[in-house]
Amino acid sequence: MSQPIVPEAGKKVDLKEFSSDHTGDMKKEDGVAELERLGFRLNELQDIFYADERFAMLIVLQAIDTGGKDGTIKNVFREVGPLGCNVVNFGVPTAEELSHDYLWRYHLKAPERGHITIFNRSYYESVLVERVKGIAPKEIWKARYDEINAFEAFLSAQKTVVMKFYLHISKDEQRARLQERVDNPKKRWKFRSGDLEDRKVWGDYQEAFSDMLTRCNTAVAPWHVVPADHNWYRDLVVARALVKKLESLDLKYPDAAPGIVGTVVV
Ligand code: ADP
Repeated sequence: MSQPIVPEAGKKVDLKEFSSDHTGDMKKEDGVAELERLGFRLNELQDIFYADERFAMLIVLQAIDTGGKDGTIKNVFREVGPLGCNVVNFGVPTAEELSHDYLWRYHLKAPERGHITIFNRSYYESVLVERVKGIAPKEIWKARYDEINAFEAFLSAQKTVVMKFYLHISKDEQRARLQERVDNPKKRWKFRSGDLEDRKVWGDYQEAFSDMLTRCNTAVAPWHVVPADHNWYRDLVVARALVKKLESLDLKYPDAAPGIVGTVVV
C-alpha cells in the first residue's frame, strides 16, 4: 500500500488507499524513545522561533471524532513551554461568528510573529461537517477549496508557516475508541451521542476528507496524512514533520544590541 505522509501536490488523494495502522516497520519502544528526543528538540526550536520573530506558525489538526487531535497536542507538545505557543478549539460557530464571512473567526486567531498556534479543528470544517450535514449548499462549499487555498497562500506570503495534519483512523478503531469512552468513567465526559450519528455517515466524511486532501494540498500549505490508529506512531509522524520544518527555517537568536556584549553588570 502506498503511504506517502505528504501526498504529491495536485494528485488525487483517495483515503481508501491509505492504511491507518501503518507504523513504518518501527518497534513501539524505538518510536517512543525518538518522540522523547524530538519533544526536547521541539522545545529548543520553539524558543529560538519565539526570539527570532520572523515567522509565525499555524498548525492545523483535522480528524474524524476520536481521531486523536487532543492526544496529539498533549504528547507532541509535552516539552514545549506555553510562552509563545497556544491552542484554539473551534466548535459550532456562534451567532456572531455566523454573521461574518466563514474565515473571519480563524483569521482572528491566526498566530502573530514568533508564535505557534494550533488549530484544533479549523476552517476545513466548512468543507467537512458543513458539507456532510448539508449546512452549506453544494455551490457554496465547492467554491471554498479555492478560497481556502488563497487564504493559506496569503498567510504564507505574510510569513506564517502553515502545517496541516489529517489524522487517519479506521472505522473499526473509531468503534473501539467510542466504546472506551462509554466504558471508561474518566473518558465518558467526551462521549457525545452525536458521535454515533456522525459514524453513520462515515463514508461521506471519508469522501469529504479525501476531497479536502486533494484540493487543498499545496506547496505552501501541504497536508500530512498521518496514520493514526497507533497513538505513538501518530505523535512521531507529527513531531518529525514539525522539527524538520522548524530546522529548515534557519532560525537564529537575534544579535545583541550594540554595546551589550562585554558589559559588566554591577
Ligand atoms: P472536539 O470534537 O474537537 O473535541 P467538540 O466536542 O467541542 O470538540 O466538538 C466540536 C463540534 O463543533 C464538532 O461536532 C464539529 O463538527 C462542530 N463544528 C466545528 N466547526 C463547525 C462549523 N463550521 N459548522 C458546524 N459545526 C462545526
